[in-house]
Amino acid sequence: MSERDGSANDLSRRVLGVAVSPTVATSQRAAALKAQGRDVLDFSVGEPDQDTPPAVVDAGIAALRDGRTRYAPAAGIPELRAAVASRYRRDFNVTFAPEEVVITTGGKQALYLACQALLDRGDEVILPTPHWPTFSEAVRLAGARPILVHAQEKDGFKVTARMISKATSPRTKAVILNSPSNPTGAVLEPEDLLVIGDMAQRRRFTLLYDDTYARLSYGGPDTTTLQALRDSVGDRFVVLGTASKTYCMTGWRIGWLLGPRALTEACASLISHSTQCPATFAQVGAVEALTGPQKGVQDLVAEYRRRRDFLHPAVAELPKLSCALPEGGFYLFPNLARYLSSQIPTTVDLAGRLLEERGLAVVPGEGFGSPGYLRLSFARPLDELREGVARFASFLGELRGE
Ligand code: PMP
Repeated sequence: MSERDGSANDLSRRVLGVAVSPTVATSQRAAALKAQGRDVLDFSVGEPDQDTPPAVVDAGIAALRDGRTRYAPAAGIPELRAAVASRYRRDFNVTFAPEEVVITTGGKQALYLACQALLDRGDEVILPTPHWPTFSEAVRLAGARPILVHAQEKDGFKVTARMISKATSPRTKAVILNSPSNPTGAVLEPEDLLVIGDMAQRRRFTLLYDDTYARLSYGGPDTTTLQALRDSVGDRFVVLGTASKTYCMTGWRIGWLLGPRALTEACASLISHSTQCPATFAQVGAVEALTGPQKGVQDLVAEYRRRRDFLHPAVAELPKLSCALPEGGFYLFPNLARYLSSQIPTTVDLAGRLLEERGLAVVPGEGFGSPGYLRLSFARPLDELREGVARFASFLGELRGE
């Protein structure tokens, strides 16, 4: 054990163990180049480029003017807890009582709290990979161990019940599922989800189901599986969600956790000792997002589908790479392994050169547990996607010696 010197540079082992998010690192480098006046296209972003719908903005402003400027209950304002429950009932046919909903400061806090409230040192959490980096760090921050299981590109990165089954042990406390997935866009097959649920029941673990991109599914929302899962799995089923992507509200910081009362109460207790509550007026805005007309969501899905239908073939047809078709969300995850060489040994190097030489920011697969891949976000306008794909194609052409 290292000597403690009492200085504020002497950081805890907990914090020293946290990996810096590669998404943040890339965005920072892209922003620095932009600040120098470079023409940079940022395909590393994980947020919609559209503004928050005006009705939601108006509701937030009205809330401020109406004096909704004070502390809210730690579990969230009752209207929002009810609005989240009602939205899940309407969109996915799954029933949670308002008391089974806790409002969090974004989906990130929902995940953080779930891990803090459920995990102990020595617990294992099965995490299919490629995965969003915060999953593994939130598990580690709670003292538990992420057990990575690899979804294969040849299977469209689908997570199967078999993969999960092989990784379970007596120490398995939870399994994290993210569908559609960030970064692959893969959607879990309902049969696999139900078999994993069955496994959760028999082998006694919790399913942490992150549905951040569920309403941005190109096949439409699944309206039967979640309730079937809830019926069979009961209190072992927890949903982690957010207003961020569906309602273009990333900066509002409103997310939620749906699960048994013991868990929502534990989360509320942790919130009361840390953030107290997400901003009260932001919660009022989210009520409008969830209870108002949903046409904006349909328009958003249609827009992302148009972008995917442009970008996927444009990338997939480039020589010496392969690219699975995303079924939801706004990311492509092409395989660039055949472009690696002694000059460019990793996709971190490849992404670095793409940014420095062509002004195109993308995230290397290393950050998602998958070296050899890049994540390209299509949460950018179509004209930028056209320009970006042209830069990407010419960069790869140069690497091929053309
Ligand atoms: N889950 C996944 C899979 C995500 O990609 C993100 C955002 N990148 C989140 C949760 C959390 O988003 P937020 O904190 O903005 O709600």
